[in-house]
Formats: sequence, structure tokens, C-alpha cells
Amino acid sequence: MIALMFGPPGSGKGTQASRVAVRLGVPHVAAGDMLRDEVARDTALGREAKPIMDSGGLVPDDLVVRMIEGRLGQPDAISGVLLDGFPRTVPQAVTLDAMLGRRDTNVDDVVSLEVPDDELKARILKRATTEGRSDDTAEGLAQRLMVYRQDTAPVLDHYREAGTRIEAINGVGDIDAITERIIESLKHNGAAVGNS
Ligand code: ADP
Repeated sequence: MIALMFGPPGSGKGTQASRVAVRLGVPHVAAGDMLRDEVARDTALGREAKPIMDSGGLVPDDLVVRMIEGRLGQPDAISGVLLDGFPRTVPQAVTLDAMLGRRDTNVDDVVSLEVPDDELKARILKRATTEGRSDDTAEGLAQRLMVYRQDTAPVLDHYREAGTRIEAINGVGDIDAITERIIESLKHNGAAVGNS
């Protein structure tokens, strides 16, 4: 099962992706977490990515693609994966499709978490006080929302046009209830999902 978790910044996609991956029995591959890890380890990629991430922009496609390609080549990711935060641009999606095509696979499902802008802003500003992520500022958020609309939302259209199943999920409410909504929707579409 190759699935994508899709949603604007603050939609809770990271939280939901880690829970859903456990239920699907596949690794959770989160581009943002991997980039933050590169920053923390002060690697060449991390040094290049940090100022871009802090300003709310996107790290160049070629760098992110190389990082994800390496991860998808690991043995645990061969039979399935839940991707979170990748692909974030149409060129990244095209590259992912080609990468999977070489292995005779494709994206099976896209989960799209839907949350209104006002709620996103409230959540991110709250997260700023608890997690201390350096991109969780009012300016950073405004920029990330703009980039999301401009560069990332078209990825959803890309998969819609390709005929990929898209689960539109209401991302407002209790965290457990949202996980169950996602699981139910995936099951309904025939995914093999384990119990919690
Ligand atoms: P959020 O969805 O809350 O913005 P993420 O952890 O998914 O948080 O991403 C944080 C930042 O990491 C993004 O704003 C961007 O700068 C960078 N990033 C993550 N994934 C990608 C990607 N696929 N392509 C380019 N940049 C990325």
C-alpha cells in the first residue's frame, strides 16, 4: 500500500500520518521530519534547507527528491509506505510516479485532510508556544499557506486526474475520531487495515 497524507500546514497531517501508518503496517515517511533531522545533524542538506524552511518556502525539489528516493530504497519501505509532506509540488509528484513506475507500483490512495484557514492559524500559533518549531511564526505560517495553495494544492489535482482514489477527510475534531474517519474511508476503499 502506497498512500499519501495530504493537507495544509497545521492540518494535523503529521499526527494522523504516524497513527495511520501503524494501522496500515507501513513506515511513516515524513519529509519535514527528515529535513528537521538533517538540520539537527548540521549536514550539508540541513544547512541549505534551514533558512528556506524558516522563511516558509520550499526546499528545492532535487534535494528533497534525493532524500526521499534514498528512504524509499530502504528494505522496510519496499512493500508499502505512508508519505507525509511529499510530494509537495507537481514536479515532485511526477518524479515519485516515475520512481514507483520503475518498480511496477503506483500511489494507491491520497488522504486529504481538510481544515479551514482560521483553525489552521489558531493551531499553528498554539503549537508555536509548545513545540518551538522555528517556522511556526505568524509570517512563516502566512507564507506556508500561500505556498500550499500555489504549489502543493495542484498535486491533489494531479492525482485526481490520474484517477487515484482521494479520501477527503474532515480534519476538525477529536484526534482519535479523525484517525477513525481516515481508517474507515481507507477500508471502504478496500485497503487492508489492522486494529489499533
Ligand atoms: P507543515 O506541513 O506544518 O508545514 P512539514 O514538517 O511538513 O510541516 O514541513 C516543514 C517545512 O519543510 C516546509 O515548510 C518546507 O520548507 C520543508 N519541506 C517539507 N517537505 C518538503 C517537500 N516535499 N519539498 C520541499 N520542501 C519541503
